[in-house]
Amino acid sequence: MVLSSDELERYTRQMGLPDWGEDGQERLRDARVFIAGAGGLGSAVALYLTAAGVGRITLCDPDTVELSNLNRQVLYSTSDIGRGKVTAASEHLVSLNPAAAIVPQSYRIDTDSAPDLVAGHDIAIDCLDTLDARFVLNRACIALGIPMVYGAVSGFTGQLSLIHPPTTPCLECFISDKSPTEMPQVPGCTAGMIGSLQATEAIKYLIGIGRTLAGRLLVVDGMGPRFDVLEIERDPDCPACGNRAE
Ligand SMILES: [Zn+2]
Repeated sequence: MVLSSDELERYTRQMGLPDWGEDGQERLRDARVFIAGAGGLGSAVALYLTAAGVGRITLCDPDTVELSNLNRQVLYSTSDIGRGKVTAASEHLVSLNPAAAIVPQSYRIDTDSAPDLVAGHDIAIDCLDTLDARFVLNRACIALGIPMVYGAVSGFTGQLSLIHPPTTPCLECFISDKSPTEMPQVPGCTAGMIGSLQATEAIKYLIGIGRTLAGRLLVVDGMGPRFDVLEIERDPDCPACGNRAE
């Protein structure tokens, strides 16, 4: 279906980009994106993908909004404290772009829930805050053959990559340290920066433009500031995607 006059006007400042055009905009409108986690990263990813015109976004998070979230989770207002995150987020995202279909899922990502939640999407965005949940999402995406944009933050640093085995390593190929890193100090600007880069990866993948971070890890240090891109390789013995995968 061709774009309406409203859509042409709403997206006029991006469709003129090289290789984007009406075709790219239609691809975004037809896309189904799964966002795991509606915290600091998820706020930035959801806002930018909704604004860009992604047609269907599933937002998955079981938590309620707390006062201590608001330094970085820019999807929420002070009046949202105590409300379910995905409920409050859906209202805000639909008011930003009424054409977007926002699907709230108030579930925790675990081994039982992940496959059904993620199935049927074109890409998943990892905006989770524990390594255990990230690994569960990683394995669900491998099993379903769905690409995943990994992103993580701590302090003024962050990192991200596009995960899509067998053409790329998976998360467990290059992260083996399972020591807990929960509840790190994170200023909102760091979450916004990495979340924006995750949204950029998703847009590039969905439209088919630019060069994604497939097979590469972008490491960001906001204090330097410094951006490094590291080549990463598959581990043939990876427990998730390797020869000995369980
Ligand atoms: Zn792997």
